Amino acid sequence: ASHDDERVRFDELGLPPELLAAVRDLGFTHPSPIQERAIPALLEGRSVLGVAQTGTGKTAAFGLPLLAEVRASNRATQGLVLAPTRELAMQVAEAIQSFATKLDGVNVVSVYGGAPYGPQERALARGAHVIVGTPGRVIDHLKRGNIVLDHLSTLVLDEADEMLRMGFAEDVDEILSFAPQKKRMALFSATMPPAIKRVAEEHMPDAVSVAVARQSTTVTSVEQTYAVVPFRHKTGALTRIVETTDADATIVFVRTRSAAEEVGAALIARGIVAATISGDVPQKERERIVERLRDGSLTVLVATDVAARGLDVERIGLVVNFDIPSEPEAYVHRIGRTGRAGRTGKALTFVAPHEKRKLRNIERTTRQELEEIHIPSPLDVSRH
Ligand code: ADP
Ligand code: MG
Repeated sequence: ASHDDERVRFDELGLPPELLAAVRDLGFTHPSPIQERAIPALLEGRSVLGVAQTGTGKTAAFGLPLLAEVRASNRATQGLVLAPTRELAMQVAEAIQSFATKLDGVNVVSVYGGAPYGPQERALARGAHVIVGTPGRVIDHLKRGNIVLDHLSTLVLDEADEMLRMGFAEDVDEILSFAPQKKRMALFSATMPPAIKRVAEEHMPDAVSVAVARQSTTVTSVEQTYAVVPFRHKTGALTRIVETTDADATIVFVRTRSAAEEVGAALIARGIVAATISGDVPQKERERIVERLRDGSLTVLVATDVAARGLDVERIGLVVNFDIPSEPEAYVHRIGRTGRAGRTGKALTFVAPHEKRKLRNIERTTRQELEEIHIPSPLDVSRH
């Protein structure tokens, strides 16, 4: 009689057997809190407005009920998921595919910018029951007549605040204008800025609101600390941290592209296996780097916020904010890169003496106090 027995099981949510079997094969035994609440609501045909951080299991929360409504015999597009980046679109498509393994003939197609139209057009022409895409490219395909949404039953906006931040607000509005009135919507976001509230009020007035309390998200499985480090000592401090951490892989966040290059070079000079990704790294190169993080041949990734969007690598045990982010939301997104899939992660933020205000801001927004740690300076070390 473990307390597991009291938890809601997947087979109590009303999902069809094919989806339950797929979920079981994936090793999911119990739904996460957001899944427990969003899945039954969506299965009833209601819309869901979900506030939840990364790592809370949102993909299955919308992906399973989306698939439950798809009729393979109808070749029309019945589910559309919008995601902010190419990586996220690919990841979500892959996850939905993995949920659909026991369903016969359901096609999942992903479309995103920065890739040629031809292959996407052909995939869409073969019949896409479910489309996962970035807003800009979805609009392009809608305008070219490659995507038709007349039979759409589920529309998902995943990581809506990220889409907004990336300037997709108008694209999302336009896509909504192509979709039929009668449909379920799921909107998921880590934060609820006014622009998202507006979309929700306008397009999903009767939505069930699901907020996952911080306590039950992975964020609390991230041990969050900060260290006061003067600007000129940051690189040295980082090197010591990276050389002594027990994390399998580390992500270091910096503010600018040039800082990424500099910090990456400094680590490599110390013999650390590091790579940098910033906005202008070609897509293929980014994918290679992510793959190296996954397979363990890379231990440190230095990245800007834009470059790290949507990274989902379970091996990331430590996030270092080399530069403290100005916006608390960015902080939440950054530390969400660790502590994934129920693992415990660590986050360390460097705070220059004049940046205490940014730290307080983050603490206020996340309603958590970060614990201060001291990084021994090389002087302290050499005294021994
Ligand atoms: P989010 O979109 O909220 O960041 P994901 O949907 O990407 O989260 O899920 C995060 C990780 O947790 C994935 O590796 C996923 O396979 C895993 N996961 C999701 N739901 C469950 C569950 N109910 N049980 C176990 N693992 C799960
Ligand atoms: Mg997600």
